[in-house]
Amino acid sequence: PFITFEGIDGAGKTTQLEALCHFLQSRGTPFERTREPGGTPAGERLREVVLAEAMQPETELLVMFAARCEHVQARILPAITAGRWVVCDRFSDASYAYQVGGRGVDAARFALIERWVLGGFRPDLTFLFDLDPAVAGRRLAQAGTRVRDRFERLDQAFFARVRAAYLERAAREPGRFVVLDATRPPEALSQQVIAEVQRRWPS
Ligand code: C5P
Ligand code: MG
Repeated sequence: PFITFEGIDGAGKTTQLEALCHFLQSRGTPFERTREPGGTPAGERLREVVLAEAMQPETELLVMFAARCEHVQARILPAITAGRWVVCDRFSDASYAYQVGGRGVDAARFALIERWVLGGFRPDLTFLFDLDPAVAGRRLAQAGTRVRDRFERLDQAFFARVRAAYLERAAREPGRFVVLDATRPPEALSQQVIAEVQRRWPS
């Protein structure tokens, strides 16, 4: 299986991804943990560029998909073929949410590049951590949480559009998405995540 974690910055998806990885480890399931943008040596270099430098929305989309193309071909598909699970922090849904929803790239152009890079390839399961941007902003602003990249400086209106685009995408593929209320306590959320994985892939 290929499982992805999505949500606006500050929603807590990485913490939940770590909880699932601990669970898979404890049960002896072979898996790889990875992230986007990134996940390969070339992809991590592209990540540094795209997180540091302002660029046109379409350019940003192309860099995300360049990194994704490398990630899918060089890492995700080989892992799945070898029988390992892949657990990924963000994937193509993030490009739809951030570059189409947030930055206003044309949705038809997005669909073209997504088809070009991925064909029909998609995650088997996607957890979307849904959260009000005001709450996410307060979480990120709390003591100890430094701004980690240029996206975390963006305003609430931007993240409101990102959130709406995520929810729109989830509504189109209800079988793939599990939408979680990210205001719930972390332990409750990880229980939900693990229960869903066990339900879909018992063993
Ligand atoms: O997952 P993480 O928050 O570390 O991702 C790094 C940043 O890249 C995020 O702040 C997110 O806003 C941004 N991003 C993006 N478009 C993507 C993937 C990530 O704008 N397709
Ligand atoms: Mg972030």
